[in-house]
Amino acid sequence: ARASALAESTGPGATKDGHAVPLLANIGGPQDVAAALAAGAEGVGLYRTEFLFLDRSKPPSDAEQEEAYRKVLEAFPEGRVVVRTLDAGADKPLAFLPPPGDEPNPALGERGLRMMRRHPDVLTAQLSALARAAAGLTVKLQVMAPMVTGVEEAESFAAACREAGVERPGIMIEVPAAALRARDLAPEVEFFSIGTNDLTQYACAADRQIGGLAHLQDPWHPAVLDLVAPAAGAGVPCGVCGEAAADPALACVLVGLGVTSLSMSAPSLPLVRATLAQHTLDECREAARAARAARTPAEARAAALAVLGQEG
Ligand code: PEP
Ligand code: MG
Repeated sequence: ARASALAESTGPGATKDGHAVPLLANIGGPQDVAAALAAGAEGVGLYRTEFLFLDRSKPPSDAEQEEAYRKVLEAFPEGRVVVRTLDAGADKPLAFLPPPGDEPNPALGERGLRMMRRHPDVLTAQLSALARAAAGLTVKLQVMAPMVTGVEEAESFAAACREAGVERPGIMIEVPAAALRARDLAPEVEFFSIGTNDLTQYACAADRQIGGLAHLQDPWHPAVLDLVAPAAGAGVPCGVCGEAAADPALACVLVGLGVTSLSMSAPSLPLVRATLAQHTLDECREAARAARAARTPAEARAAALAVLGQEG
């Protein structure tokens, strides 16, 4: 049954009763576009731009950035491409960005937007290259900042975007403070994208780089679902671009919580598309209620699977 569902899985993402849920791809650069298109991605939900900046002694030139961005943007003339600005930090060190000093807890240190605010020239160059790359194209370009904690950061990022000619600024929701107070952040931006990998790490206080703590890095944790709910209900479109979106049952739960699009690595798209097509929006909501009522990640998953009529 799974094989036939996969074979039939084409076209735009939607629940059984026709509630559209765009299914997008996570990519690291132009080299990943072909696989995204082959898997039927309706666009890109997370373009991790760090790869362009890694392993070099100086930042890529404006022209080099523009070219890489344009290659991705051109590939989705009818879709959207969500680009994440540089997410560097002590966990992903870049040779040309001076380290902020010895950080005993890099996950809680200067990373993502925090780092860019100390190097506004790097952020401005990236935003300007994106605006130039999108000029004259029909694709909907959206640009988001990683590691946003509060209103002042969201406001300053949105202002930097608009100044550089990027019209649709958004933020990632991956810090619990931002998730809990998403309603305060919503007026500042056009969209949210929940990074469940980091949101889980911070909610459970379990460093995602430490293999021995992997059992605590479970996005089915009811606490993580409780953090997704306010972000998805804050009144702006809210996608998920963390690994959670690639788990077919969890994808249904996320949609039930109010998430409006799902982004994942290309190979995961067909099964998520097929699973979503088998459930109504009401079933997804019921699965979300059941999962949030559970007390452990395993019970949350079992409760959702019971509603969705799937086997564990
Ligand atoms: C996340 O944190 O869920 C995310 C999508 O970003 P990354 O895995 O690159 O930190
Ligand atoms: Mg993240």
